[in-house]
Amino acid sequence: MPYSGNMKKIALHWQILIALILAIVYGIYADEQAIGYVSWMGDVFLRALKMLIIPLILSSLISGIANIGSGSSLGRLGLKTIGYYVSTSLLAIITGQILVNIIRPGVGADLNFSGKVEGLVENQRSLGDTLIEMVPQNIFQAFNDNDMLAIIFFAILFGFFVTRAREENREVLKKAFNAIFEVMMKITMFVIRFTPLGIFGIVAKVVAEQDDLMGLVSRMGLYMGTVILALSIHFFITLPLIVKFIGRAKPFRHMKNMSTPLLTAFSTSSSGATLPLTITAVEKNSGVSNKISSFTLPLGATINMDGTALYECVAAIFIAQAYGVELSLIQQGVIVLTALLASIGAAAIPMAGLVMITVILTAVGLPLEGVGLILAVDRIIDMFRTCTNVWSDSCGAVIIAKSEGEKLSV
Ligand code: ASP
Repeated sequence: MPYSGNMKKIALHWQILIALILAIVYGIYADEQAIGYVSWMGDVFLRALKMLIIPLILSSLISGIANIGSGSSLGRLGLKTIGYYVSTSLLAIITGQILVNIIRPGVGADLNFSGKVEGLVENQRSLGDTLIEMVPQNIFQAFNDNDMLAIIFFAILFGFFVTRAREENREVLKKAFNAIFEVMMKITMFVIRFTPLGIFGIVAKVVAEQDDLMGLVSRMGLYMGTVILALSIHFFITLPLIVKFIGRAKPFRHMKNMSTPLLTAFSTSSSGATLPLTITAVEKNSGVSNKISSFTLPLGATINMDGTALYECVAAIFIAQAYGVELSLIQQGVIVLTALLASIGAAAIPMAGLVMITVILTAVGLPLEGVGLILAVDRIIDMFRTCTNVWSDSCGAVIIAKSEGEKLSV
């Protein structure tokens, strides 16, 4: 470690990694009372992150869009962003589909190992409803409900029409939102300093709640292995290749820059809660402008979920295999398409993807009880897929920034 007079501080991502490892050990050995001593740190940290999300997204999106200025460049950005989201999600799904068809983890799976699935179906929303509800009838209600798509819709509209206001008002509004954004970023940086403590609290509790972790791994190992292998291929090969060849950027330097949000996504299983950290890392470390990051990252956290899309596809085919159902080519196609829609519709919160599996099972006529098969290990897999979701969002921001001619540090 470099030594300069007084000891240099350990980099934040190392602190987080150490906290993560200590938390796993602590979670395995601690009893309920001992978990209570530390879990409050996770709760406070998560509350602080959630506190930041809405003001951060609003100020960031409004100032970002107001600074973009013209409608045509906004449209171009929008098209590129959506194009990136859909194509990377499809690539992720296909990776999962190929692996699950080769490894066939569901064949001979233990059907008795079914958990309860009541109440899962009620949360399901159709794509049509999602689109309609993007327009909030009451913006304060949307804030209250953490309805991200509605908030993003309103912020884009507001930011766009700031540019259409008379000059005196336009300048006041731009300045005001730039200023609020600056303050929100400062608060975010302050909260980020507590990430190691927060993560220690969260992970210790998650580990302690997994009773019989080893038993689970041995029974569900092949399924978990398939999902994690497919996610790793997407994370370490596909996305870096896209960053390198389409974005003309350095994927692994960017990955290092993203270590704090990635470890946080892994620990919290929520790309929404991680968003403040993602925005900070993409802007401050990789050098993407606020104009691009403010537009792509909140939208990405809400609708671009490569990890979730991949997982939906693998899980649905796993369930079909467990029930001995041979899927036709058309059914596999339906799964790919519904997995994409399910990932778009899934909320950026822990275990949202699990609920969406019901959409796919319904579409191809598989029993909904199948969800019970994968329930027990969902929380663990969620950590990996959320990490992939956040990584893909950040790669998108870099690629789009490069394509707009920005000079980045990666
Ligand atoms: N937890 C994931 C996320 O926040 C969503 C999911 O359950 O797949 O990105």
